[in-house]
Amino acid sequence: MKVFINPGHAQGGQPDPGALNDFYNLRECDIALAIGKLVQGFLSKAGCEVKLLQSHNLAGEAPEYGESVIDASSSWGADVFVSIHCNAFDTTARGAETLVYDLVGDGHALGQCIQNQLVDAMQKIDPTFPDRGLKRRPLLCVLRATPMPAALVECAFIDNDLDDKLLMTRQTEIAAAISRGVTDYWQKLG
Ligand SMILES: [Zn+2]
Repeated sequence: MKVFINPGHAQGGQPDPGALNDFYNLRECDIALAIGKLVQGFLSKAGCEVKLLQSHNLAGEAPEYGESVIDASSSWGADVFVSIHCNAFDTTARGAETLVYDLVGDGHALGQCIQNQLVDAMQKIDPTFPDRGLKRRPLLCVLRATPMPAALVECAFIDNDLDDKLLMTRQTEIAAAISRGVTDYWQKLG
């Protein structure tokens, strides 16, 4: 299986670091990249071919940056595409959610496998960690323009204190769960 990993937001945070947490000096782009590299390691060990490319062009809003992540994944012939992000809202919201193009089909199945593993892993650490489920986001180019099944996982909220602790100290568990979700999906296909 060829897995394309796309950590969210710009490489090095320029021009777009994603969501920020000034108290802990966290940037979404750094956490997404760290988790993405760990996923790359886990899936490589599991026998997958893995390519990783960070991109900030989430909704096709930066044509000069190219839909390079779309082109790169399709020309490489990826079987699945996984974008990795952190959420942010009002400091009180918590939990994981996975965004998919539609609530049917292969992308949805991939997203559900990832969501199930991630929520299960985080609830083992913190039973109050919420399962926010799957959400339909047809306008995101990483979900709309990718020809292979694609899912975007919002691992946890970067602006919530409890979720922050998971994002800072449990990156290995988060990455292992995302990796298991990908291999679960692949095994279901038979
Ligand atoms: Zn993001």
